[in-house]
Amino acid sequence: MISYEEFFANLVRVRARIATTCTAAGRDPASVRILAVTKTHPMEAALYAHRAGLAGAGENRVQEALEKIAICPDPTVRWELIGHLQSNKAGKAAVAFARIQSVDNAELAQKLDRAAAAAGRVLPVLLQINAGDDPAKFGAHCADAPALIETALKCPALKVEGLMTIAPFAPDNPAVAQKCFARLRETRDALAKQFNVALPELSMGMTDDLDTAVREGSTLIRVGTALFGKRT
Ligand SMILES: *Cc1c(COP(=O)(O)O)cnc(C)c1O
Repeated sequence: MISYEEFFANLVRVRARIATTCTAAGRDPASVRILAVTKTHPMEAALYAHRAGLAGAGENRVQEALEKIAICPDPTVRWELIGHLQSNKAGKAAVAFARIQSVDNAELAQKLDRAAAAAGRVLPVLLQINAGDDPAKFGAHCADAPALIETALKCPALKVEGLMTIAPFAPDNPAVAQKCFARLRETRDALAKQFNVALPELSMGMTDDLDTAVREGSTLIRVGTALFGKRT
């Protein structure tokens, strides 16, 4: 595990990337927040993110996250689920996470709604959309997004804050991610209009494609490697 000072130096570099891209795109750098992706790293990585004032800690596996949350000494750390959620873990997830970004089907939305209601809370969620039509990725297809949001908006214990996507892996062809991110933004705009709701959050962009994502309107980048180094 790297030191806080190394982490902070990495964060300064990520923020400089965001600032450069925002300036070129005519965006306010403060409109792009950073979720630190702490998967595979010790719980302390989330404390680093919290201390630096980042949006929170992103975990992709429920079990791993629950173990870290259980030993985290600071209850104000925000944990977000960014990985696929099996419906048999929806009950635990609805209680443990500050927000779930990976709601990709109506049945899961309804399960989370019931679990959140039973826990007496309103659970913020993002709908995960497979905007790159990548067979290797989870997420609802764009064509199914209206039906998914229609169900989610009828869930009183869910608060739909926006959309999330993961671009197809194509390191040599930035146009692939660009197309995916533009499509997520267009899908968001269309849904917001059709259902007359604000969907301010666009969670898109990771270490390798965050610049493209910021150009396309990302409001939340999910960054692991650029902050904590390569996962082993
Ligand atoms: C691992 C992961 C990230 C972070 O990836 P890096 O390339 O390490 O920045 C972002 N989003 C999701 C959904 C992930 O699983």
